[in-house]
Amino acid sequence: MAPAAERKDLQATKKMKVVMGKYFAELGQAPQAGKKTAWCTSVGPAELLRALGFSVYFPENHGAMLGATRMATDLIPLANARGFSPDICSYLTSDIGSYLKGASPLQKMNLPGPPKADVLVYNTNQCRDVKDWFQFYAREWGVPCLGIHTPRAIGELSAPMVEDVARQTEALIKPLEDVAGQKLDMDKLREVVRLSRQCTALWKQVLETAAAVPAPLTFFDGTIQMGPAVVLRGCQDAVDYYQELLAELKQRVSDGVPAIEGERFRIYWEGMPIWGKLSSLAAQFAQLKTCVAASTYCNSWIFEALDPADPIHSMARAYSSIFICRSDDYKEQYIEQMVAKFRVNGILFHDAKTCPNNSNCRYAMPQRLLKRLGKPCVVLNGDLNDLRLYSEEQSRTNIEAFVEQLAEA
Ligand code: SF4
Repeated sequence: MAPAAERKDLQATKKMKVVMGKYFAELGQAPQAGKKTAWCTSVGPAELLRALGFSVYFPENHGAMLGATRMATDLIPLANARGFSPDICSYLTSDIGSYLKGASPLQKMNLPGPPKADVLVYNTNQCRDVKDWFQFYAREWGVPCLGIHTPRAIGELSAPMVEDVARQTEALIKPLEDVAGQKLDMDKLREVVRLSRQCTALWKQVLETAAAVPAPLTFFDGTIQMGPAVVLRGCQDAVDYYQELLAELKQRVSDGVPAIEGERFRIYWEGMPIWGKLSSLAAQFAQLKTCVAASTYCNSWIFEALDPADPIHSMARAYSSIFICRSDDYKEQYIEQMVAKFRVNGILFHDAKTCPNNSNCRYAMPQRLLKRLGKPCVVLNGDLNDLRLYSEEQSRTNIEAFVEQLAEA
């Protein structure tokens, strides 16, 4: 076996830990600071909630923490016993299991656990599971659960679709004002959307530094670096952080510093991360001198349609444009562009058992892309959080065989 490959840490990560620590501390202090707490889905209307003065909490981020700390596998059965199937979203089941047991990685950050919501706000652009997830807590705590129902499998995003989502977003304002105890200030919303747009532009540039050969960062770095883009979009802290990270990555590119020493191959990761196995997968790819240079997942927090001049309609457009709610034809064109931009040699599809919404290999897309692009594809069976659905040995063998295939191509 080859010696363990060294992973080059980014200096900016230290600052990210401070930025994320401040975010979590403020979440914990919200009630004392007189702020109401809103739960929001990861691609929900965060800008509206911030403009209304809410402290905004994203439970999918907690789900990812439960996966990364490997607490999820022991917690999921508690939600199963409560009637939530082992086949549905393992963010949902691990988060509800965490609530039922009163155990959370947030306790290591001096928080008792996730903050109790005053209101829960979802958007079904990603899946129906988020609505069911939020409704569980709404029933537990007797608080309102509001949402936006976005069409799915969208080919061309038409004006009537955007109008419909914009009206649903507008319809949230009055009930949210009632919970917040304040009126929406449109200037404040414009400012939050402006900051969110700025965060998006910087995050996109960060990810695009990996188009350089060799790439200065990998998908595995991206899953860590994306924290502020998820939980702090619309805030100055996220903008400041990504300016610093981008400068470091640009320096790496101009100095020719690679994320993977001796980079030989480049891969596109399609699908969810396997949170509990990020380190071992990163180490295996490093040993194989293969850079996972880009992914659909990290790019999912790029919302280029956001426009402070028209906040509500641009939010509707941005949150209905995302990859996950698009048709297979659209997704294939998107992946084709990514493959070209990041100059990848092959595509890895993660078939996450409990997230059909982020598993795009089930209806012959890899076969179509192989024919269309001539790029080899591999499917890794696993899950985002439930490690009982993942075989380390089988995955290692599949990845090794795939890289050998790339070497022969
Ligand atoms: S998209 Fe998948 S992982 Fe995310 S909340 Fe929905 S089912 Fe869970």
